[in-house]
Amino acid sequence: MAVINDVLDISKIEAGKLVLESLHFDLQQVMARAVAQVAERAQAKGLAIQVEAPPKLDSHLLGDPTRLTQALLNYLSNAVKFTERGKITLRTLFQDQDEDSVTVRFEVLDSGVGIEAQAIDQIFSAFQQADNSTTRKFGGTGLGLAITRELARLMGGESGVSSEIGKGSTFWFSARLKRGSGCAPLLQSV
Ligand code: ADP
Repeated sequence: MAVINDVLDISKIEAGKLVLESLHFDLQQVMARAVAQVAERAQAKGLAIQVEAPPKLDSHLLGDPTRLTQALLNYLSNAVKFTERGKITLRTLFQDQDEDSVTVRFEVLDSGVGIEAQAIDQIFSAFQQADNSTTRKFGGTGLGLAITRELARLMGGESGVSSEIGKGSTFWFSARLKRGSGCAPLLQSV
């Protein structure tokens, strides 16, 4: 099912037919929900998942929580898949804000296998994996990162990764999200 959904999503994106919803949602809840979906797999491997958010986070925003969760999950599932020991961190930072919207940066840090420098430019393309043995060793289709990159773009943001082989990776994306009604000014930004 997951593979079929990914293929459908990438086709929709490539046809320019993926439209994001605009709903009120709580950013902390979205983060918690995404983490909950990988918690069991992480626990089975003995990996801790840490969540870091600004202390005075007012997280009532307007956007597409389902697609945001999907974008986060693609990074989190990979972090669990490609990490054997250590921990995974989901970090949220406010990059920028104005009256109506905030730009949020999401980072998923892992202490896993890392990615070779020459593969980094390709892995965000559809159906690309870092090396030819990835499917045999870990499964997967090579669509998750392409989908997250496109979702970030549709949310007015960008995406990227920094990685060191054998040490781990930090995948990030940003999203410009409208503020929900009745929000206090955000206190924390980077
Ligand atoms: P899939 O995980 O289905 O192969 P993705 O598009 O999510 O597809 O990832 C593409 C490739 O990028 C993976 O096959 C893997 O080679 C590499 N990759 C993604 N996330 C990580 C990570 N956290 N650590 C190491 N390699 C990763």
